[in-house]
Amino acid sequence: MECLFCKIVAGEIPSQKVYEDENHLAFLDINPRNPGHTLVIPKKHYETIMNMPDEEAGRLFQTVKRLAAAIKKAMNADGISIAQSNERAAGQVIPHVHFHVIPRFLSEGPPGLESILPPKKLTQEIMEKTREAIEKGVSNLNTSVNEKKSSEKEMDFNF
Ligand SMILES: [Zn+2]
Repeated sequence: MECLFCKIVAGEIPSQKVYEDENHLAFLDINPRNPGHTLVIPKKHYETIMNMPDEEAGRLFQTVKRLAAAIKKAMNADGISIAQSNERAAGQVIPHVHFHVIPRFLSEGPPGLESILPPKKLTQEIMEKTREAIEKGVSNLNTSVNEKKSSEKEMDFNF
């Protein structure tokens, strides 16, 4: 078992646990963006949120939501950011699903994604192609959606 977070779940690596239940573990990020920055993970190893069964992903987010409220109160924060990245291109470093729950304060800034991911000007054509691709992709959302293998990608967007 090479996964850092699986080792934390197993207790092989120490962590500052703030919450634990049958399926989930929450502990302080060792590189906190703010005091109270917490990681919430499923105990079972999944690399990305897309790999998780719908029910488990839903349950995980319920725990994230409850922790967000508890952490905001405990840290006397003005707001909470919830962040979750999948795969290297998105900035995922540890390949085990995790949500960042980050207390935010009015005294800090900027509050949004502006600094790391500024808005892009896209042409109407790209916007329409994008909408069509996503619309097609979600047409069967009522059935369980698991990620397509990369070989099945239908189009590439290069911005
Ligand atoms: Zn793991």
